[in-house]
Amino acid sequence: MAKLAIVSALLDEQKGLLDQLQQPTKRIRAGRSFWSGQWAGHDVVLVLSKVGKVAAASTTVTLIEAFGVERVLFTGVAGGIGEGVKVGDVVVADAFIQHDMDSGPLFPRYEIPLYGRSTLDCDASLSAILFEAVKLGLTGVGDHFHRTSLLEAPNVHRGLIASGDQFVCDPSDVDCLRAGLQSAGHAPLAVEMEGAAVAQVCYDYGIPFAAVRTISDRADAQAHMDFSAFVQQVASPYALAIVSQFMKKLQK
Ligand code: SAH
Repeated sequence: MAKLAIVSALLDEQKGLLDQLQQPTKRIRAGRSFWSGQWAGHDVVLVLSKVGKVAAASTTVTLIEAFGVERVLFTGVAGGIGEGVKVGDVVVADAFIQHDMDSGPLFPRYEIPLYGRSTLDCDASLSAILFEAVKLGLTGVGDHFHRTSLLEAPNVHRGLIASGDQFVCDPSDVDCLRAGLQSAGHAPLAVEMEGAAVAQVCYDYGIPFAAVRTISDRADAQAHMDFSAFVQQVASPYALAIVSQFMKKLQK
């Protein structure tokens, strides 16, 4: 049975997931708590990567080297920067790019040096299961949030996510980021701080990777406001509903 890692950056993103773990055991490694156990008959390891690309990459290496993980799922929140990607929507990643990668003039803008590519694809079959899990999972919770008028009914998107070591909270930064990526032929739906790093480590090891992000903000001046409340009240129940469906659909 291929052991699955479920990675989140922040504690509030992981809340609820840990409760689902049967026979949980904790091991601390490199300053992180790795929770191993069973979920819906699957061997899983839950961990918080902390924030940023280096933290996410080192966590992923530990998952693979020390815990024998053979597939990786990331669940968390992100800023919506694609057209029509609003707060409360959910994005399933098809691929990742580092918006802050620039080794010019040695390499083209965004290209990961010595990889000969800018984007890294997510695993097609894991992502297809995830997309179905999001649609099923949101049917219940989405209605709830819609009724309590916190949000409009959530839409589910699939596409490119951009990662970088920056909390984007300024419309002019978003314009700049989008224009730069667009000129290289990329149209990201969301921005966050870990996914591309996890994708790169999984690419190096040949391990399937999928990622889902609930949109917590529009990467504008409001982005930091109610961030924590949003993650607790919306993103955390979304993550639980989505990952629960994902575990049911996942092949052993
Ligand atoms: N306020 C938090 C820190 C959040 S950092 C705290 O006090 O702990 C933002 C986290 O959410 C990162 O893990 C990142 O992946 C994601 N994220 C959400 N919105 C983002 C945005 N607008 N720009 C970049 N990352 C964002």
